[in-house]
This record gives sequence, structure tokens and C-alpha cells, in this order.
Amino acid sequence: MTTHEYTCPDCTGTIDLPVESLEATVEHGCPLCGASVDRVGVATG
Ligand SMILES: [Zn+2]
Repeated sequence: MTTHEYTCPDCTGTIDLPVESLEATVEHGCPLCGASVDRVGVATG
């Protein structure tokens, strides 16, 4: 399974997410701090 390391720009927390759930996470916001996640911030890496 491919994972994507997502770094939240708000709380700077890093989470390893399966690519499959990445979009859902972006929809719901950061799992750590709840900040809204901009899809652009997820595109790198
Ligand atoms: Zn966060």
C-alpha cells in the first residue's frame, strides 16, 4: 500500500496516510488539530 506523508501546515504534525484515505482526510481536515486542509498542501512529496 502506498502511503503519503502529510505534514499539516497548521500544527506541523506529520501523519502517514494511505493514499486511498488521503482525499477523505483532506475533506475532513487535519486529524491532529482539525484545521482545514488545502489540497495543494498535500500535493507535494
Ligand atoms: Zn494539524
